[in-house]
Amino acid sequence: MNVLALLRFRKADILRRAVNLLPILFAAILLVFAENSAIEAYRTFQRIEASNASEAIRAGRDIGDQAKLVEMSRRKLGNRLILGFTADDANDMRAALAGLLATIDNARPAFILPADAALISQIDSIAELAAGLETAFAGVHPDDTTILNALDGDLRRLSEKFRLLQENMSEQGTRYIALQGETLAASYSAMLKLSIAMVGAIASMLALLVLNRRATWQANYRADHDVTTGVLNRRAFERWIEGIHFDPHTSKAVMVFDLDNFKEVNDELGHMAGDHVLKAFVANLVASFGQDALVVRWGGDEFVAVVSTDGLVEAGAVTLLRASFARLQTAVRFGDTDIEVRCSGGAAVWPTDSRDFHEVLQLADLALYKAKSRGKSRLQFYDTDILNERHKVLALRERLRAALRDGELSLHWQPQVDVTRGYVPSAEALIRWTDRETGRMIPPGEFIPAAEASDLIIEIDNFVIEEAVRTAARWATLWQYPPIVAVNVSAAHFQRREFVGQVRDILRRHNLGPDRLELEITEGVILGDNIEVTRNLKGLEALGVHIALDDFGTGYSNIAYLAQLKPDRLKIDQAFIAALSGNPQMESLVSAIIGIGRAIDCEVVAEGVETVEQLDLVQRLGCCLVQGYYFAKPMPDDDFQAWREANYPDAAVSVTHLRRLGDRLARAGEAL
Ligand code: C2E
Ligand code: CA
Ligand code: CA
Repeated sequence: MNVLALLRFRKADILRRAVNLLPILFAAILLVFAENSAIEAYRTFQRIEASNASEAIRAGRDIGDQAKLVEMSRRKLGNRLILGFTADDANDMRAALAGLLATIDNARPAFILPADAALISQIDSIAELAAGLETAFAGVHPDDTTILNALDGDLRRLSEKFRLLQENMSEQGTRYIALQGETLAASYSAMLKLSIAMVGAIASMLALLVLNRRATWQANYRADHDVTTGVLNRRAFERWIEGIHFDPHTSKAVMVFDLDNFKEVNDELGHMAGDHVLKAFVANLVASFGQDALVVRWGGDEFVAVVSTDGLVEAGAVTLLRASFARLQTAVRFGDTDIEVRCSGGAAVWPTDSRDFHEVLQLADLALYKAKSRGKSRLQFYDTDILNERHKVLALRERLRAALRDGELSLHWQPQVDVTRGYVPSAEALIRWTDRETGRMIPPGEFIPAAEASDLIIEIDNFVIEEAVRTAARWATLWQYPPIVAVNVSAAHFQRREFVGQVRDILRRHNLGPDRLELEITEGVILGDNIEVTRNLKGLEALGVHIALDDFGTGYSNIAYLAQLKPDRLKIDQAFIAALSGNPQMESLVSAIIGIGRAIDCEVVAEGVETVEQLDLVQRLGCCLVQGYYFAKPMPDDDFQAWREANYPDAAVSVTHLRRLGDRLARAGEAL
């Protein structure tokens, strides 16, 4: 619907329509505005004789109706004018007004109606009708001409009804008018006029309602809709969910979408392009899933669509949704550029997967998570396996939380050896979890990912940093040349604003120089580039902490960021080293990585060196820092100390230092 056309629909229109309803408008105005003197208005129209309630009841055709009438007049009337009808009239009225309400209800695709707007199946009195209409109108767009047009039509039909009533009135018997708590028998003509007046009253009441609602509605509209895309926002969606009721005969697919490449679009082409993509994506969602789909911007580049799957068998629904999903993967034109729009999706079905709509939403989100982990641009339907995995992760996380509290976590140390100079400049801290119940050592690969999806990773990382710094401080009391401690930091933690402050505090607490600590981060950290990451990198540089880029070569980010990042070390991923022997291509790759390190003036560490061949190879390729089982496996601090004393004691380091000094002097001498 054209919104501008709607907005042009103004008060004048409503009045014009109301004028069309003359002559009943006159009566209507009298009734609406003379409410307090309703009795005078009433008398103006007819001369009726008051009779007492019991007589009225007796005169009626339908006992139930009379009883209701009297009851109503007692309960609700107050100062209001109420008309009572016999059953036949009431049914006719009901049918006509139900038609009107159905029209209002059918206007739903364009606008949201609160769930209770589908109300008024029972219209017991005009007062209730009025209240009902008011409720119905609460959710209807005040500029919706379809409703007012329908209103015109329906009111006309109602007037016609009353005209017919007039002709047949003599056979219809007496009608009742309840006024100010008393039931009065009405004469035929009074009845007619009041009936007409009533129609007018409804008309003008609606007109007023429409006008009054507009302002509130527009304010609500703004609060309920996303500014960029115009679809419902999270707040409105939450409200919609509250109104939903379990019904075994309806089902809805709840789909959660996440744009795969939105960040790149924003970064590379700017926010205008980003907004353009979001709008195009929403248009695409509506086009693919149909006008009836409820589309919500969940936040950022995440959207939700609720699609009715009524009457579809599961396989049919899946096929249909998959086909619609496939249409979401398109290109969008922005200026001269075609932007590829890709998204991942997760879906769950309400009430099949759960009667609780919020839970269904969570299940769809879990499915989305799985879709992304299996590679992007997929649609994943929720199934019980996903939930089982989820439960396992949650259970593991709880055990891990307890393990952290109960001191079951500790650090092992793996030396990094400078093979040309023969000393240990650094050691990497690797976390270990000894499950007290089973005595089993749980490898970090099993529990770190479970922790990473929650805040627990922050606590664990902080524990590791603190433990490592404490160890480094202890080594400083033991040795003259203690190794630097290297600590793995998860991407999630690195994106925290308070990260640098925490590191600084820990160093201070243990009185350790920042140059004694190295933080190992992965390319993933930089991929998740945001203000916080950049700020943290700068903060760490200012603090003087070393940065090592872990698992180098496995990420897919470009090399350009290296110059910005200025790491102190690159760690060649162990997969490359493992594939090295007898593989010339891998050799050139490793050689290239070493070249990159040299180019940006940072040290290169070969990780996962297990054999003497591998050691020879990396050395030949120009890498002199080596970590791996060939030298030592990660070991507890005591063992590490013993290992170092046995293999690379301080004395060796001093020799190394002397040798390096000698080398430098010799080179200086040559230069002279
Ligand atoms: P990573 O940072 O790449 O750590 C190196 C892994 O390679 C360690 O496994 C280490 O034991 C293993 N390794 C070392 N030399 C060799 C070798 O010669 N051959 C083979 N096959 N493996 C070798 P680990 O301790 O199981 O750790 C696995 C991963 O878990 C680590 O990979 C790191 O990503 C993560 N991790 C470990 N400790 C921590 C921690 O304290 N905090 C965080 N956030 N992550 C950690
Ligand atoms: Ca590492
Ligand atoms: Ca590594």
